[in-house]
Amino acid sequence: MSQIAANLKAVQERITAAARRAGRDPAGVRLIAVTKTVDLERLRQAAAAGHRCFGENYVQEAQAKITALGPGLQWHFIGHLQSKKSGAAVNLFDLIHSVDRLKLAQALDQAAARLHQVQDILIQVNLAGEGTKSGAAPEEVPDLLREIARMAHLRVMGLMTMPPWLDPEEVRPYFRALRELRHRLQDMEIVPNPLTELSMGMSGDYEAAVEEGATLVRVGTAIFGSRPPRG
Ligand SMILES: *Cc1c(COP(=O)(O)O)cnc(C)c1O
Repeated sequence: MSQIAANLKAVQERITAAARRAGRDPAGVRLIAVTKTVDLERLRQAAAAGHRCFGENYVQEAQAKITALGPGLQWHFIGHLQSKKSGAAVNLFDLIHSVDRLKLAQALDQAAARLHQVQDILIQVNLAGEGTKSGAAPEEVPDLLREIARMAHLRVMGLMTMPPWLDPEEVRPYFRALRELRHRLQDMEIVPNPLTELSMGMSGDYEAAVEEGATLVRVGTAIFGSRPPRG
């Protein structure tokens, strides 16, 4: 078994255990293997191990990887997205996790309309109000959802967050807050479909995230090893 296959298996087992601890069905949690800066060789090992769900932060990097790895895989966009890259993003990704402003939603809606498709998205929420991070403030989300509900080519599936860089027990309140925000938004019935997805949890804290209700966990270094610093 390759190191990457072994890592995937270990992470999946920890997800299963965390789900069981919380009385959840482990099948309700999808593991997204985060591939930023990961070379094709290691990606091929993950695909060869049977992994199908990948996440990228950079549109151009994803384009090359998606072409090289071929069909049959699911790709998620998890990075900061510039409106001008909306067309490429709609072409490439099954789910875009990082919609956090009206202008971007409008650009994605128009891009999806041109391609005659409906793009699934999540709203990225900045729960701690950190100026350095993307994401809509929690109190902005209802209005953003109201605007998006009028867009025929976007479908909001749920929420995503990147909490402050703390240890797993310190981030747990943020995971809980995202789950509670989803409940409140669900009760408001702003969009027609249920908000089923909660994208939260990374290598250092995905077990806590699963215990708090994550349906999508985004794990990079625990699968592929540590990344080189980006220059
Ligand atoms: C890089 C990244 C991850 C994965 O981080 P790890 O700590 O390597 O697991 C998850 N989500 C987002 C948005 C990222 O940019």
